[in-house]
Amino acid sequence: MTMKIFKLHVETINEVLPQTQCKLCTYEGCKPYATAIVEHGDQIDRCLPGGVRVLKKLAELTHQDITPYLATMQTKQKPQLVAKIREAECIGCTLCIQACPVDAILGAAKQMHTIISDECTGCELCLAPCPVDCIDLLELGPTPETDSPVLKKKAVHARRRYEFHQTRLQKEKQQNQKKHQLALKINTSQRETSLIDKKQAIAAAVARVLQKKNQNSDND
Ligand code: SF4
Ligand code: SF4
Ligand code: SF4
Repeated sequence: MTMKIFKLHVETINEVLPQTQCKLCTYEGCKPYATAIVEHGDQIDRCLPGGVRVLKKLAELTHQDITPYLATMQTKQKPQLVAKIREAECIGCTLCIQACPVDAILGAAKQMHTIISDECTGCELCLAPCPVDCIDLLELGPTPETDSPVLKKKAVHARRRYEFHQTRLQKEKQQNQKKHQLALKINTSQRETSLIDKKQAIAAAVARVLQKKNQNSDND
């Protein structure tokens, strides 16, 4: 659907999304999906973790009829999930930490990793990168079809952690860029110094040869 929705803000839509950040909607996270709905009139049935509950909210906010989407959403909506690492099998590769959008995994290189259940949104993004397939998904219950303060609180918390994670990544990227530029500068200056040293060494060798030649011709 390419309907343009006016007087609707990305923030208003983002606030009703569950903030699982799972990318199942085919966007990079909840906010990009909210942006696609507002700016391009994208379909309102893409959020499977939100299920019928979020579908109803999106239909209400965008003034659309829920009927064409309802039956499919009832069968496709995802239950509430939490991930758990079978710690004895973990090889400490850290790949799951890098994949987690809300920093819910603790561990360091070559050490056992563990998931903080209260912070896990059940997004499943850590499953695919795990080379030994030691992460399980546990079902916490069916997708709630009505709003509740607990769900709202959970979404606000997940969003905060996701935004913190994004800021941290951005800072790390900037720091890495700075380090890379510094390393480049040092390498260039070392190359220049070694070039100067080489030139000086050649000049000194040439001078020595010439001096020797001159001495030889004086002796002749
Ligand atoms: S919870 Fe997942 S599917 Fe729903 S909007 Fe957020 S990223 Fe998209
Ligand atoms: S631990 Fe895994 S499932 Fe849980 S939020 Fe992080 S990436 Fe998603
Ligand atoms: S990706 Fe799997 S093996 Fe690697 S640290 Fe995470 S749980 Fe352990």
